Amino acid sequence: MRVVLAGGGVIALLTAIECVSAGHEVIVADQADIPFSGATSFDRHRVLRALHPGDLATTAAAVSAHHAWIELERLLSTRFYEQVGALTAIDAEKAAAARELLTAAGSKAEVFGAGELADAFPHAGFHPGTGAVLESYAGVLLADRVLAACAGRLRWHAHAELHPHRKVVGVDADRAEVRLADGGILRGDAVLLAAGPWSRELLAPELSRELVLHRQTMLYCDVPPADAAAWAATPAITSLGTPGGAWLVPPVAGTPLKLSAASACRVVDDVVGGTAPSWWREHLIDTFAALIPGFRRDWLVDTRDCHYLARRSTLGPMLAVLGDRVLSYAACGGSSFKFAPLIARSLAARLTGADPAPTGLEPLDRPLIRASGVHPTRPALRGVS
Ligand SMILES: Cc1cc2nc3c(=O)[nH]c(=O)nc-3n(C[C@H](O)[C@H](O)[C@H](O)COP(=O)(O)OP(=O)(O)OC[C@H]3O[C@@H](n4cnc5c(N)ncnc54)[C@H](O)[C@@H]3O)c2cc1C
Repeated sequence: MRVVLAGGGVIALLTAIECVSAGHEVIVADQADIPFSGATSFDRHRVLRALHPGDLATTAAAVSAHHAWIELERLLSTRFYEQVGALTAIDAEKAAAARELLTAAGSKAEVFGAGELADAFPHAGFHPGTGAVLESYAGVLLADRVLAACAGRLRWHAHAELHPHRKVVGVDADRAEVRLADGGILRGDAVLLAAGPWSRELLAPELSRELVLHRQTMLYCDVPPADAAAWAATPAITSLGTPGGAWLVPPVAGTPLKLSAASACRVVDDVVGGTAPSWWREHLIDTFAALIPGFRRDWLVDTRDCHYLARRSTLGPMLAVLGDRVLSYAACGGSSFKFAPLIARSLAARLTGADPAPTGLEPLDRPLIRASGVHPTRPALRGVS
């Protein structure tokens, strides 16, 4: 089969790898470079933690994703998964239940009381009195390296074509073809739209209305040399236990320390550049100055804003079946990168007519619109010819 993929982020690239690995042909078209530094996937790191409190299926899926990333490192002959673990601040009374959940999902976990946490990670700045759960089947994915490795593999693959700077402006769900801004048409047997935060532009209003656009500011820091060893031995901290939802990614594999918080995330109308506005930068500087001992603004080496979509009703991703083997996957913030190998496997199976194995991830196993027959949902797309 010939599969056309719109987008060159982690979802499209890993789905393309799945398809060519199964013997199919792929055509990947992105509006910009492949990979594109403005894509949501293009950052120094993304965190993989397994714990989804109170949700065994999703926690087990995250443990599967952990193993899938290790397999992908082998397949792509590139090191991009730093298994430094993940630490989540959690109330003492909920910590034991979280450890049991992780154990049931096949992951190892350790509980820290408030005193132990402050002793083990004095440099990290947890909210006073908080405890934590440390998972070992977790860590940091070097996101830009993942994209470069995928694009490199596809660029030289006999059954893959990469089309950078070819923006998709319309999709014909009946013919499984996409129309490009330059007037060209890419025709396949199946189509995947994986346009990240730009997904709404390709969907009809009834679907795009379901998706809410968010923008989040991040700080990138160089830690002082005296603290470098302590930071190098720090897991990804997905929650410092503060009311504002502060989190950090340690400086692994030569990357800077990354700091952000749920409080630096806001709903916006459009994707507009990646420059962090000064108000949001100062908000994060103030947040972390109050948390991390010795934190100073001259640690800062860069700032960036990133966009993501979330489905209004679930705050998660949205898989929509637009036609027979024509899909749209609108990824979400927080977890679509770590789950990308499972998402890609499932999407590739649907696109190529194989039975997708259950992933344990609700939006994948139960897509939004189930089209029946060969000529469904023509009006679901804007720009249908
Ligand atoms: C601040 C922040 C932190 C995050 N942290 C984590 C984390 O720790 N763990 C985790 O698992 N996830 C995390 N995420 C979420 C994760 O990064 C995203 O869900 C994921 O990277 C989205 O991948 P994607 O391929 O769908 O989209 P993208 O990476 O945005 O790729 C979409 C691509 O489509 C292209 N495109 C768009 N429109 C068109 C068009 N019309 N024609 C052709 N090409 C087009 C774009 O140029 C782009 O290259 C985070 C997100 C944010 C914003």
